[in-house]
Amino acid sequence: MFEFISFRDYQTLLTNGQTTCVEAVRHYINVINANAHLNVWLETFAEEALVRASELDQARRNGEPLGKLHGVIIGIKDVICYKDHKVSASSLILENFTSVYNATATQRLLDEGGIIIGRQNCDEFAMGSSNENSAYGSVKNAADTSRVPGGSSGGSAVAVQAKMCMVSLGSDTGGSVRQPADFCGVIGFKPSYGTISRYGLIAYASSFDQIGIFANSIDDVSVVMDSISGPDEFDSTCSSTSFPNFKNEQAENNKYKIAYFSNALNHPSLHPEIKGATTRFIEELTAEGHAVEAIDFQLLDYIVPTYYVLTTAEASSNLSRYDGVKFGHRNEEKNHDLTTFYKANRSNGFGAEVKRRILLGTFVLSAGYYEAYFTKAQQVRQLLAKKTKEIFEQYDAIILPTVPTPAFKLGEKSNDPIEMFLGDIYTVYANLVGIPAISLPLFRTAEGLPFGLQVMASQKNDLLLLRLSKNLMDL
Ligand code: GLN
Repeated sequence: MFEFISFRDYQTLLTNGQTTCVEAVRHYINVINANAHLNVWLETFAEEALVRASELDQARRNGEPLGKLHGVIIGIKDVICYKDHKVSASSLILENFTSVYNATATQRLLDEGGIIIGRQNCDEFAMGSSNENSAYGSVKNAADTSRVPGGSSGGSAVAVQAKMCMVSLGSDTGGSVRQPADFCGVIGFKPSYGTISRYGLIAYASSFDQIGIFANSIDDVSVVMDSISGPDEFDSTCSSTSFPNFKNEQAENNKYKIAYFSNALNHPSLHPEIKGATTRFIEELTAEGHAVEAIDFQLLDYIVPTYYVLTTAEASSNLSRYDGVKFGHRNEEKNHDLTTFYKANRSNGFGAEVKRRILLGTFVLSAGYYEAYFTKAQQVRQLLAKKTKEIFEQYDAIILPTVPTPAFKLGEKSNDPIEMFLGDIYTVYANLVGIPAISLPLFRTAEGLPFGLQVMASQKNDLLLLRLSKNLMDL
């Protein structure tokens, strides 16, 4: 019986001859098949994963050098390009589109010996918080199938939650890794902006987007970071300095100075059990000798509107390429009017939420409203960056809940976009200012639903964040 604990243990079993990559792939394919009702996978690559696994087994037996991700079984969100494989952003507009190149992250996974087992369902173009915006149906939370897994990387979270792969790559523009990780009881890590190349990641809002990682342990997150982060000539926003070595990061017994936002903990939208668990955790941290202090973060109520003005503006521009000519679904009806042709392609290809955001984004960028919305939101973003810098001059980390409520029921919020947007109150901040943030699966409600604690560090201090996280997970 195959059992996965961590990459390190698995790779020890491989080198000792106690298991094989082929056995691991077979095991995961069985688990995937047994969980088809969760609707996690848009496509699995079972046959080719088995071929690759046997090549890796052979390479190991031949004594060839092994990559950091040797034999690791990985799922990727359907917004990350994998050469010669389909990628659709869970949208009809890209149905049957095949990648002609590998994303840098994909290439690096493969270079380090990883096995990609399939592409995972998500909200269309990564827009959403419940995975209900996929053109291929909702994903279900394995903890309670009447509930959403969160979004937009819902499939990637449930894949790790239900043990259908060892690790998943998702993308996080405003919480899409941390929020589903919170709802599903797994770790979800969004690195600093510019840490993992965005080359080959289908763009939603380019100044916010970051590839992130779902895993069961901080050690596994670190190995993936070691494998895929770092400079990339194909992404000019990717940091040009190499990242500190993530591997071997020890959970030091450092005492940290940690801030939390008192108005976030007292926010009326915060579920009482989440407030209670976070407050008790703060007391525990203090008892452990960390200095945990409340600060009043005056800008809290501005961050969701700022996020939605700026991301929809960027999305309206990024998604203009899907017009049926350059990319995407083309209406077969013959007509000679170009405007009608474009309209038909985009109206049929995009789902309702994506259309809403393109319209919103076009509106905030329009000549008459540009100053009032787009410029204003950019000013708030500047203010947030300034305020954040001040906070990190005094503190090592900030802690907050990840989401104000545990996983909600399927359909519960789908008719109320504002309600859905407001649920992003704690996660969008990290993307607005580009800092690293993680959701740690530390808590459960009385009913048994998982929820997490969010921890953030200053920009490019991902290593400190992972060390502190390891510490907190062991508390
Ligand atoms: N829920 C947020 C949104 O809908 C975040 C999405 C994301 O991070 N991709 O925009």
